Amino acid sequence: MSTVARTQPTLAEVDPEVAAAIRHEEERQSSVLEMIPSENYASRAVIEAVGSVLTNKYAEGYAGARYYHGNEFVDDVEVLALERAKALFGVDHANVQPHSGAQANMAVYLGVIKPGDPVLGMQLDAGGHLTHGHPVNASAKLYNFASYGVDRETEVIDYDLMLKAAKDHQPKIIVVGATAYPRHFDFVRAREIADEVGAVLMADMAHIAGLVAGGAHPSPVGHAQIITTSTHKTLRGPRGGMVLCDQKYARRVDRGVFPGTQGGPLMHVIAGKAVMLKEAATEEFRQHAAQVVENAKTLAQTLMDAGLRLVSGGTDTHLVLIDVAKLGLDGQRAADALERAGIVANKNAIPFDTLPPTEGSGVRMGTPALTSRGMGVDEIRRVGEIIAQVLQAPDDAALGKQLRAEVSEMCARFPAPGLPSR
Ligand SMILES: *Cc1c(COP(=O)(O)O)cnc(C)c1O
Repeated sequence: MSTVARTQPTLAEVDPEVAAAIRHEEERQSSVLEMIPSENYASRAVIEAVGSVLTNKYAEGYAGARYYHGNEFVDDVEVLALERAKALFGVDHANVQPHSGAQANMAVYLGVIKPGDPVLGMQLDAGGHLTHGHPVNASAKLYNFASYGVDRETEVIDYDLMLKAAKDHQPKIIVVGATAYPRHFDFVRAREIADEVGAVLMADMAHIAGLVAGGAHPSPVGHAQIITTSTHKTLRGPRGGMVLCDQKYARRVDRGVFPGTQGGPLMHVIAGKAVMLKEAATEEFRQHAAQVVENAKTLAQTLMDAGLRLVSGGTDTHLVLIDVAKLGLDGQRAADALERAGIVANKNAIPFDTLPPTEGSGVRMGTPALTSRGMGVDEIRRVGEIIAQVLQAPDDAALGKQLRAEVSEMCARFPAPGLPSR
């Protein structure tokens, strides 16, 4: 660090309150088993890029065509991110500017269709996302959404029903992708359905992008003409979004992002995305992605062996959805009990849920963050046993305390990446 930088006051000196909150959050992240499947640990390198002076730069527009001057170095950063995204996923075109996954989705809708146009998305209680046409979200206020869901018995997407809904609704876009769906998507079948009704297939791979990058989930590339994603979930990048698409949609997607829905891009975050894309192209990351899935399958089997019911009877991915109504619980109570034992998960609706989303009959949990800490099937099996014990005796305070101690000990043995060692 330069002399000048060293003579400037530190964060702790300028703002001890914010500094303390950050320190406490670091301690929390290192001392709990983080099992919210959309969360992960970005590497120290990613965090360093995001904490850089690139935050100072305005770069409205795209590399080589900006509205401000002084962009030669941030252009380097954005081009690196774009080239790496295209190479990693094997796509024609990428846009790395969306501030988040939700922004990426809105940018695609805005760029590709018109307000009022019909769109088909996945039902929220089947695992779909707010931006796939939930009534409270701008997607439903601006576009005419209909939905498809899962089969009541198998809890797996019913593609015949998707086809029927597509024929009835005649969507301009069909969105496939979910936040709480433990099974593979059949992108081949979804494209056939989209083609049959003349719709564009948009895959929202926010949750599974890291698995796709690492070859642990079938890729939507070559099937979906447009792919959106967040960058901070299984991809382990900074908080943000990204769009990948066929050349045919490149201009419309880019215009949907800027000037359609955003102003200046977050160049420090784009630098973090570039670093993440480099990390995700390694053999080490491929092995990590495979381990995430193996760990989730182990978790699923352990929970089912303990007598718990999982939505769809297991998982193909990084997450499981536990039906806690079967245990006389709701998602809120179950997640509270788990948190007392040091396991952080989230309440979630399950298919055909009878409880409101504020309670939910499910708990959603995943293995990405634990796998990033280096945990393998042996540790995950024990974690699964702990989860089952907690959920089967959620009010047993003594048991909770004893398991909390064991969880703390596991956390100490597997330090989380990106956090200061303590
Ligand atoms: C997480 C998620 C998003 C939104 O991402 P944000 O970065 O939180 O805006 C969109 N779609 C799906 C399917 C998701 O899981």
